[in-house]
Order: sequence, then structure tokens, then C-alpha cells
Amino acid sequence: MARGVAATGRDWAAVFTRGAVGSARVQLEQLTKRYGDLVAVDALSLDIAPGEFLTLLGPSGSGKTTTLMMLAGFEYPTTGRIAIDGSDVTFRPPHKRDIGVVFQSYALFPHLTVFDNIAFPLSVRGYGKEEIRTRVEAALELVQLGGQGRRMPRQLSGGMQQRVALARAIVFGPRLLLMDEPLGALDRKLRESMQLEIKRIQQSLGTTVLYVTHDQDEALTMSDRIAVMNHGRIVQIGTAAELYERPADEFVAGFLGECNFLPGTVQAFDAASRQAHVGLANGTIVAAPVANGVVPAGAVTLGVRPERCLIREGPGPDAPLIGRVQQVAYLGDAVKLYVAVEGGAETVVVKQLNREGLRVPQRGEVVHIGWASADARLFPRAVAAERSRPLAATPATGERVDHGV
Ligand code: ADP
Ligand code: MG
Repeated sequence: MARGVAATGRDWAAVFTRGAVGSARVQLEQLTKRYGDLVAVDALSLDIAPGEFLTLLGPSGSGKTTTLMMLAGFEYPTTGRIAIDGSDVTFRPPHKRDIGVVFQSYALFPHLTVFDNIAFPLSVRGYGKEEIRTRVEAALELVQLGGQGRRMPRQLSGGMQQRVALARAIVFGPRLLLMDEPLGALDRKLRESMQLEIKRIQQSLGTTVLYVTHDQDEALTMSDRIAVMNHGRIVQIGTAAELYERPADEFVAGFLGECNFLPGTVQAFDAASRQAHVGLANGTIVAAPVANGVVPAGAVTLGVRPERCLIREGPGPDAPLIGRVQQVAYLGDAVKLYVAVEGGAETVVVKQLNREGLRVPQRGEVVHIGWASADARLFPRAVAAERSRPLAATPATGERVDHGV
């Protein structure tokens, strides 16, 4: 991504990098980190383009922080190699890597003013007084805290403190910025505005960013590409749309967005239309496209997103499942139905946009469910224990569930 000029008209990159190229290329090659018998990061390879905003997304314990720490130099890999702009930095100490780092806990110095907190990385690098003042004031302005330099960290809200931490991480013009769940401690509204804020700052500086989160919405909002991690490995990497539309496996489909998983068996394959005919648990046969040229056989799982499911009041060829509405969750912008499907053990979730004229079935009502065959995806049947979270069968925390009459 090209570095640019923010809405204020100021060339921020020029202030912090003195005209030097402001973004690094990062290559992680076969990076492995073992703690005793535990493999925290497992032969991970990743190439981050200059100016790219790349997010590691994965559940807790999947190795995100360990990967970031190795890149920052706070941990050394057991095996593998790290290169920044082509130079091997695998065992270079952190202060010689010139990387900006922001952690979840803001880690500001409580006894220093906001100004002195941000000035710290410049002082340790031996910058002169005038240069420090220019840069700190520009950094404050960039994070929209102009004129707040005299305040103490405890006088600031969580969001403001996090912006001070961000200013401190960028003030010395790093070519690479690492952020580990930096918004985890903030409430939702603030988190969402900070996501856009960080993105704006990254775009105006052109800095390469490696961002870590377990929050899928955050990853979708901010990233140029997302690497989905599980068990110390990258399961799939791509743009948000690629991962959402073409998840490589059930784990990605369930972790990035919500997905209904229906067990089935491949009965036939039609080479002309490149569609498999899949028998579902209730005996109906549905068509599903074959992805990546891999023709599935035997036991499969058919995945279909809740918002791609259609509700029909009567049976029909486009509505192969029949079920009874168990719960209706009113989400405001959408309504979710949890439907217990006849002839199968699954609960299918259907999400409908709350548009004018939407008829919401009542709890207990019988409905027919279908989808366009292009919206179904086939995965080789995973062992149940491999799924790291339950099927989309129960309302997520925070959803309001209407238990009906
Ligand atoms: P994430 O950031 O994705 O939650 P981490 O990288 O922190 O995951 O951890 C990956 C795995 O490595 C976890 O099982 C964690 O318990 C383990 N781990 C992390 N740091 C250490 C350490 N210093 N010593 C022992 N095990 C660790
Ligand atoms: Mg972590």
C-alpha cells in the first residue's frame, strides 16, 4: 500500500521517516518454537509485503503471540529464520530491529507525562531536543491527542492511553509495526472506532503491520490479508473475502464467520457441471459444487452460511430440509432462527436481514430450509474432536434470544 497524506494534508510519513522508505518486507521461514514438548509455533512460513496490513487470527493458544515475539526479538526460534528487507534478523536483539510494538496492556510509564512517554524511544536513540519536540507533537496530532502532552496516563481513558501507546510505537519511524491484541481491553464501540483509527494511521504512514487478534470482526475490518492460525500453524491465508467465500476447511469456515455443518455422503459426481450429489442425513440429495478441483468421496460435511439459507413455507426442490423453529434471536439488524432439522441431529441456523416486510416464523413453527447450490461447500468429514468450537447450534453470548410464546 502506498504511503500517503492523511486528511489533514500533512505528509506524516515524511515527519517520522525523514523521507526514507517507510515499510519493511518480512519473511518468516519455517519458524518453529518449542517449549519442552510443546510446539507453540510449528514450521510457520509467511511473507509480508511492504506496507501490507497482515493479521494473525486464531483461537487462544494457537501461537500468535509467540510468532510476534520472535519477530520482535523477545523470543528466539528453536529452528527457522526471520528476514526483514532481506537481512537475517533471527537472533538480532530487539532494540536493533527498529520495530514498533503495541501490546494489549498499554504499558505506559505511569510516572511520565504523555509527552515523555512518547519521547522515550527518541531519547534512547539519542535524538536532539528540537527533533523530539517536533516528532512527539506530530505523533500526538496523528493519534488525535494534540495538546494533551502534559497530562499523565492515569488522567486518560483506556482508548486515549492506547493511542498514546500507538504514538510511542510510531514516533521513531519504524518500518514495521507489531500489535498484539491492542484493543482487547476496550469496550465494543471504542474498539470499532480504534480499528478504523489504526487503519487510517497505518495508511497515512505506509508502515507494514503484523496484527494479532482472536476477534474475527477486527481481522475482517482491518486487514489486507488474514492468516488463520490453529495449533501453531497457518491453516489458510488470504483476503477476508477469499477466506469467507472459500474456506479451506471446517475450522476456517467456523472460525471466520458462522457456518452450518451438515454430515453427508457423496453419492455421485457430475463431471459436466462439476457438482457432487450429496445425500444428507434426512435422505434428501442435494447438489454442491466441487472446489479446487478436488472431487470428494465418501463421508463429507456440507457447509452453508446462515445468511445464505432461505426459508420457505412449503416444501420444494430448493428447500430440502424441514424442521421446527426452536429459538428466534432478534439481533436488531437481523433475525436468527435456530431450526431443529427432521431426520438429523443438527440445528440449522438461518440468518435473515431485518428488512421491511420480513415475516419471522414463531417458535415451534415448521419451516423448509434451502440454499442455492453454489452457496454450499464440501469438506472432507473431520473428526468431531478436531473442531475447536461447537457447531453454529447455540446462540453466541450477547445475542438476545426470544424464547417465544
Ligand atoms: P496465542 O497468542 O495464540 O494465544 P501463544 O503464542 O501465547 O498463543 O501460545 C502458544 C502456546 O505456547 C500455548 O500453548 C502457550 O501455553 C505456550 N507458551 C507460550 N509461551 C510459553 C512459555 N514462555 N513457556 C511455555 N509455554 C508457552
Ligand atoms: Mg496471545
